[in-house]
Amino acid sequence: MNKGILNKKTCGWNNINKEKEKEIFNFSEEYIKFLNEVKTEREASKYIINKLEDNGFKNINSFNELKTNDKVYMLNRDKSVYAAIIGNQDVTNGLNVVGAHVDSPRLDLKPNPLYEDAKLALFKTHYYGGIKKYQWTTIPLSIHGVVVKPNGDKINITIGEDDEDPIFTITDILPHLAQEQYEKKIGKAIEGEDLNVLIGSIPNSEDNVKENIMNIINEKYGINEIDFYSSELEVVPAFKAKTLGFDKSMVAAYGQDDRVCAYSCLQALLNAKANDKTMVAIFSDKEEIGSVGNTGMSSEMFDLFINEILNKKNENIPGAINKTYCNSMMLSADVGAGVDPNYQSASEKNNASFIGYGVELNKYTGSRGKSGASDANAEFVAKVRNIFETNNIKYQVSELGKVDLGGGGTIAYILADKGMDVIDCGVPVISMHSPYEVTSKYDIYSAYEAYKAFFEEH
Ligand code: MN
Ligand code: MN
Repeated sequence: MNKGILNKKTCGWNNINKEKEKEIFNFSEEYIKFLNEVKTEREASKYIINKLEDNGFKNINSFNELKTNDKVYMLNRDKSVYAAIIGNQDVTNGLNVVGAHVDSPRLDLKPNPLYEDAKLALFKTHYYGGIKKYQWTTIPLSIHGVVVKPNGDKINITIGEDDEDPIFTITDILPHLAQEQYEKKIGKAIEGEDLNVLIGSIPNSEDNVKENIMNIINEKYGINEIDFYSSELEVVPAFKAKTLGFDKSMVAAYGQDDRVCAYSCLQALLNAKANDKTMVAIFSDKEEIGSVGNTGMSSEMFDLFINEILNKKNENIPGAINKTYCNSMMLSADVGAGVDPNYQSASEKNNASFIGYGVELNKYTGSRGKSGASDANAEFVAKVRNIFETNNIKYQVSELGKVDLGGGGTIAYILADKGMDVIDCGVPVISMHSPYEVTSKYDIYSAYEAYKAFFEEH
């Protein structure tokens, strides 16, 4: 048979030279450091702004007008970031956009979190995003976030990451006494109101553990119990991100959905060659709960950023933003599901992604009959294929899983609704949304190469 008639899918690690292998491993070393520094959307936004500024990006408010090769960003309420490199063509000719999200599933403290029960002090939580609750018990947890006083003073809290720090945990019943729990369905075995974080056990002189712990918190951070009302404190796994496997080919870490694509997207923007098209990177918040709110992708804040670019390029006539969007193309940089050897029956293997086989394109997401999907048109998929194939970037095209098993969504439809051509493109993950997600270093680097080539496309 003629070569090329059949689509032969091969592992990315085959036929790569030593030099490329070294690049892949070096890239992931830095990525692992990033994951250990960044566990929340606020920390990610701060990291991204620092890197952008180190590379000559400035706040868009500091420009009166924009010209070719100017590098700008907008930080939205410390939780999402939009960045652009201005091309020499009109912005209305269209943008090359890559958009990821920087929030991850976690446990948020409730507004009244602190209580004492059975002689121990605990924090009540409300989970954020889709989690399997049983995975969050009996693991080391840390707490990250901010407490803001009525006068505006902001106290940053990170505890449970340094080796000297204490950690926290959510307890679970011993197997000896788990008869009742074993009889429950797995989704009900640990319920939302069971996700209470153990934070202390020593009582004060009045035999009150809650008061003693609040005193310790007050001495350390200068906050009172009422200040939890105006806080955003997130409980996340305290595990360190690590290299996985004898061959060191994988990364195991919390929060890779979607910080793996966010990191690759940032590196791609920083290293992209100047283009005649304006390049835009999005690092959005609230994707895990539907992209809602003023830091989510559905917010008008992104339109404001693009309008500011149009204003400062003197292109902003009525309808300019719509024209810009309709001429734009975008990679929605979000993770997909890699085939799990333990749960292969969830995947339809002709249309599934395998980790190590390259960056994955999802033509559509949605669930049960493509409901809620942004379905990329064939012409645009062909264009993206052409970009990847001319740049020798290994990619695979897949679905999340079997048709009737479930589904998911990303920010793709939000930009597609504005008129852009959009396709999902990201790194396949095993154990997605768990406290310890698994990716392949080969795919992480493929994503970086894919985003960079897409930014540079004329
Ligand atoms: Mn995601
Ligand atoms: Mn997710």
